[in-house]
Amino acid sequence: MLENNIAAIATPAGKGGVAIIRISGKDPLKIAEQMFKPVGKTEVSAFEPYRMYPGQIDGGSFTDYGLCVYFKAPASYTGEDIVEFQCHGGENIARGILRQTFRLGAKPAGKGEFTKRAFLNGKLSLASAEGVADMINGESDAEVKAGFLLYSEKLTNKVRDLQAELKTLLAGIDVSVDYPEEDIEEQHIAELVVALKNILIKTESISSGYAVGKKIKNGVTVAICGKPNTGKSSLLNKLLGYDKAIVSNVAGTTRDAVEGVLEIDGRKFNLYDTAGVRESGDMIENIGIERAEAIIRSADVAVFVADYSAGLDEEDGKVLAMLKDKPLIKVFNKIDLTEDETPTDADVMTSAVTGAGVQKLKRLLYEKSFGERGEDAAFLIEQRHFDALVRAQESLKKAIAACDMGQPLDLIGIDVKEAWDALGEITGETATEAIIEEIFAKFCVGK
Ligand code: GDP
Repeated sequence: MLENNIAAIATPAGKGGVAIIRISGKDPLKIAEQMFKPVGKTEVSAFEPYRMYPGQIDGGSFTDYGLCVYFKAPASYTGEDIVEFQCHGGENIARGILRQTFRLGAKPAGKGEFTKRAFLNGKLSLASAEGVADMINGESDAEVKAGFLLYSEKLTNKVRDLQAELKTLLAGIDVSVDYPEEDIEEQHIAELVVALKNILIKTESISSGYAVGKKIKNGVTVAICGKPNTGKSSLLNKLLGYDKAIVSNVAGTTRDAVEGVLEIDGRKFNLYDTAGVRESGDMIENIGIERAEAIIRSADVAVFVADYSAGLDEEDGKVLAMLKDKPLIKVFNKIDLTEDETPTDADVMTSAVTGAGVQKLKRLLYEKSFGERGEDAAFLIEQRHFDALVRAQESLKKAIAACDMGQPLDLIGIDVKEAWDALGEITGETATEAIIEEIFAKFCVGK
């Protein structure tokens, strides 16, 4: 608090119904007094907080009719006094009003500076601020949902509980170090190991959520594999619902991995159409094959496509062998070209021409990636949080090993403190200035 006033346009650039200009700091009302003329008798200085007042907003060389609202510290987004103007949504209108706030002493807000102030004023944890960014940048419903859980301090609360438990252990260690008594110390260490193991299990249970969280944040990587001409590009197009990959009946024309992004039940899937995996003297195509192999390695799910009308051969077998370690969906395509209805071991039979089986393929993609229902409460979606949890686990394991080896308590205490510090990076307590800067740099100006 008692910071200088910062101002920015909070709405995106471009024309729209309304634009919002936001000022936060020690006395934004003073600025509003000089540039807002309310309709009616209430002076700006007498504005009730959280109420909209209509009036004229000074844009420097023009005036607009709009609204003004005052949020009183500390019950505001930033924890400081905030004034917001709502004006007509023209870029020049919003910019003119913003410039007027600058003339009256406000400073231009940096990226994410409002949220950074909220963090520095203790309104939200660092993880919560990252949740705000995840919501804003979210490319799928699931990412927005996960971002909201982060923003709502779901992860932070769990981490703070663990930190509290560690703090209690640290206090106990301090006492024992100050007043050592041998037999009591033995008993203490035995209890400490139990407590540390318990905390370790809880930490691991949180970090295990990253398996799903990562897929929510980055999308599920799907490699579509199979011999040339089996219909991979055509199926990809059908899945995406528009023509993205180049379709051709000349074998080997899909030279590069083509990416398309698909949303299934609010979750993001990145589809890669691998170049025909086959022996080839063509160098460019060989590069394509190498890429295909790299994609297969990094894929969460592989979709194997075979031409059912042509029947499967040895080459199909080779492709399948490459996919043996992956969660796999076996697709027999081109069913429109044959009358054969012999049962097969395919997971789904499709036609990229008629669209038959494509919905089922989508369902299977979802289930292979997330299970039948999909996890509902994913909130561990940030690699940074996962890494911090892993570091905390390493320190806890070190502390447990130190106990087992009969190390002195003060040394064990160092490991326990390190675990606490690692968790503090998530909440922000121990995050360095560089980490904080990096996080807020991901925000837009005005948030
Ligand atoms: P890719 O090399 O595996 O990517 O195969 P393409 O998607 O380029 O398809 C090769 C040829 O098969 C093209 O002429 C497609 O139109 C055709 N094709 C793909 N899928 C089907 C299908 O399900 N039925 C029929 N009849 N033709 C298909």
